[in-house]
Amino acid sequence: MTQTYLSHYQCALCGRAYALDIVTYTCPTCGAVGTLDMRYDYTALRRDLTPAHLSAQTQPHTLTMWRYLPLLPMTETAHIPPLHVGWTPLIPAPRLAAALGLREVWLKDDGRNPTGSLKDRASAMVVGRAQQLGVNVITTASTGNAAAALAGLCASVGMRAVIFVPAKAPPAKIAQLLVYGATVLLVDGTYDDAYALSLQASAEYGWYCRNTGMNPYTAEGKKTAALEICEQLGWQSPDALIVSVGDGNIIAGQHKGFYDLHQLGWVERIPRLIGVQAAGSDNLVRAWEQGISAEAMQRGGTETLADSISAGLPSDRTKALRAVRETGGAYLRVTDAEILAAIPSMARASGVFAEPACAAAYAGLIKAVESGVVRTGESVVLLVTGSGLKDIRGAMQSVEGEGGYPVGREINAVRDVVARLNLA
Ligand SMILES: *Cc1c(COP(=O)(O)O)cnc(C)c1O
Ligand SMILES: [Zn+2]
Repeated sequence: MTQTYLSHYQCALCGRAYALDIVTYTCPTCGAVGTLDMRYDYTALRRDLTPAHLSAQTQPHTLTMWRYLPLLPMTETAHIPPLHVGWTPLIPAPRLAAALGLREVWLKDDGRNPTGSLKDRASAMVVGRAQQLGVNVITTASTGNAAAALAGLCASVGMRAVIFVPAKAPPAKIAQLLVYGATVLLVDGTYDDAYALSLQASAEYGWYCRNTGMNPYTAEGKKTAALEICEQLGWQSPDALIVSVGDGNIIAGQHKGFYDLHQLGWVERIPRLIGVQAAGSDNLVRAWEQGISAEAMQRGGTETLADSISAGLPSDRTKALRAVRETGGAYLRVTDAEILAAIPSMARASGVFAEPACAAAYAGLIKAVESGVVRTGESVVLLVTGSGLKDIRGAMQSVEGEGGYPVGREINAVRDVVARLNLA
């Protein structure tokens, strides 16, 4: 057992502090909009921990997101799920940088996590917490990557995952849950209806609930991507971090990661955080443009082919707005056509194949450069939140109209193509 530096919870909205054993999910005063931050004893951490100490670790779990154990709400290494989550590569993309006039662009490739998305970081944290609590069932409402991540991480430790999904969810997404052995409850309604039912069932049976944003462990797990980025850059922050946004939990988690390191004095500054949403589900962009508070936000649209960033009323809206406002960042919107075009253009310039929700961040980066939100000569990290293999239908749509060259069985036909394409 290692020492815990975790101190208390603090409501992101009203600032009230809560002892760790008093609350489980959101602020009792503010309700669902009052999502909680975990606060640490930064003085003790500064005294006991150095970057050199962290970087020198060699046990197997320290080659995953758990290398930052003292900065996480976890003490027992025995509670760490066995799948390899995190410590994903930070890939330089010099041709992308050159095309955009930027000094450096890096891709943080979280599509390489065990179930194919950054959501594994949150689910690993939640499953670790569930092991500590001794619960046997975890529930969530989701159709997508969060559910798959929970199903996979639960399978890795033999825990039950009960997942509420709209009955109309894409069968391929449900298949990944079934493969992992999750119990899938098909709700005759929307994502919101599934969410409401998951809360009711969680209260009735005492199941631990992973719902994004509502469970404070999700953002703490996701913050490890930001910790890794800083370490991989030699304990420096880039000028800007760009990430696609639905519920706002990933961008909130990145902000928290940089915040923690800044508190420790390990990085000099927190990068500007730039959130990208789909034009058909752009509630946070609107709130940011119009200066609307998280509490005043109303339910917005959910229309986009990038289903992982479709969110009518983002569950982590309080922290998601704060992340951009406090770092001098921005929210941008991109159309579905721009998202589709970004999939092959990003893959061809870097070798990294992203699902639509993540390609949205690349489309957003192009816009950010055009509009001066990101300036010539700056360094940018783009968070690759999900693998392109997650959404083959989206990938096929992105290269519609392209195809192979029929060559029969004739070397002459091959020669024609080679000549036409200048491949010789
Ligand atoms: C969940 C997800 C996002 C958005 O994260 P939020 O926390 O909902 O803002 C972006 N990309 C991918 C691939 C995701 O799965
Ligand atoms: Zn509160």
